[in-house]
Amino acid sequence: MTAEILAVGSELLTPQRVDTNSLYLTQKLNELGVEVVAKGVIGDDRVRLTQAIEQARARTPLLILTGGLGPTEDDVTRDAAATACGCNLVFHQEIVDAIEARFRSFRRAMAPINRRQAYILEGAEILPNERGTAPGQWLRDQAGVVILLPGPPNELKPMFEAQCLPRLVQWLPQRHIVARVLRVAGMPESDLDQLISPIYTRYTNPVTTILAAPGDIQVHFRAHGSSDAEARALVEELSRQVEEALRDKIYSRDGESLEEVVGRLLSERGATLAVAESCTGGLLAERITSVPGSSRYFLGGWVSYSSHAKTAWLGVSPQTLETHGAVSAEAAREMAQRAREAACSTLGVSVTGVAGPAPDPGSSHPVGLVYIAVADQQSCEVKERRFVGERDRVRLQASQLALDLIRRKLVGN
Ligand code: ATP
Repeated sequence: MTAEILAVGSELLTPQRVDTNSLYLTQKLNELGVEVVAKGVIGDDRVRLTQAIEQARARTPLLILTGGLGPTEDDVTRDAAATACGCNLVFHQEIVDAIEARFRSFRRAMAPINRRQAYILEGAEILPNERGTAPGQWLRDQAGVVILLPGPPNELKPMFEAQCLPRLVQWLPQRHIVARVLRVAGMPESDLDQLISPIYTRYTNPVTTILAAPGDIQVHFRAHGSSDAEARALVEELSRQVEEALRDKIYSRDGESLEEVVGRLLSERGATLAVAESCTGGLLAERITSVPGSSRYFLGGWVSYSSHAKTAWLGVSPQTLETHGAVSAEAAREMAQRAREAACSTLGVSVTGVAGPAPDPGSSHPVGLVYIAVADQQSCEVKERRFVGERDRVRLQASQLALDLIRRKLVGN
């Protein structure tokens, strides 16, 4: 089954507003095994919208429209949908009653223009709006299904979940979908693809999608079958081969983020962690503490940005900084060890490097050079990396590698 999505609203054609509804809807539809084959943004223009609806309906059996259901003159979705679907709009007094009651509950009177929101496509089912005034609409005719949803995401999402999902499940042909996501750290997308594309390109079911972010790649598999067991077996068969190719580069098989995996491993081992950060400026600590319950294993950290902070707060030897520089394996090692000792934690982790965009004054170190150290009571491992990209990208990749090194230390890789 295929679907198209049209987001309606002239504000979505400005640089200030983004159509996020279609991302949400695409995910939900994919979970039902529906492939979104096209989506678009149309301004508040009755004629253009009518044409777009007609064209989309001629191509696909399922069309979802979002926005343009408000009470004002520029809310044209109802009219355009009626013209494109060749049906009348029918006035529903019970919708006016519901809108009036909603206004009364805020001690306000309903404006007469809100009556416009009571017009429903002939034959359509009304989808009540718990969070706003504009009801949604579900129309099923010979061409398929058209769904009209309000634009505000906080109205659209609960309406879609409560009203549209059950209808879609009933309407769509019975199909079982099983999905899995493998998450991989510390590998460029091209290297990963070279390794696994000979495997996944042999399969059309499951479908494989690769999503890459700095230092983090998600490999998604989605299989469909006539039973849950069949779909699951298909995902299993492909996933097993890909997992063999990627081995310890995979940090999660169920969607867990790297910071969640690290948190879980620390908790399971009763271990604790402290950090000393320079170029990441607290990003590593922020990511670790974004996980609920992180107080069980995260003791604290230092954003030791200047050389003075590294020596005065952490006790890094001035001689080390003098001889090797603040961006060096030696400085990283001492930062991690001192942080661990000062916090009395199981592990100490440090990050020091040149985030850019320009090299540090008076330094010959290239932008993107980063040292990361992970220390425990017995030893300290230091990694040197040269990350490519803008300042944010370098910092993100550095925090990602630091988390991955903690993970590897904890699982003994
Ligand atoms: P209302 O009754 O609030 O007017 P509506 O269905 O007419 O509902 P719009 O007026 O089109 O919705 O949009 C209202 C607000 O909802 C927009 O200003 C915008 O912030 C948000 N919105 C609309 N469409 C989208 C979209 N596709 N993605 C994300 N936000 C959206």
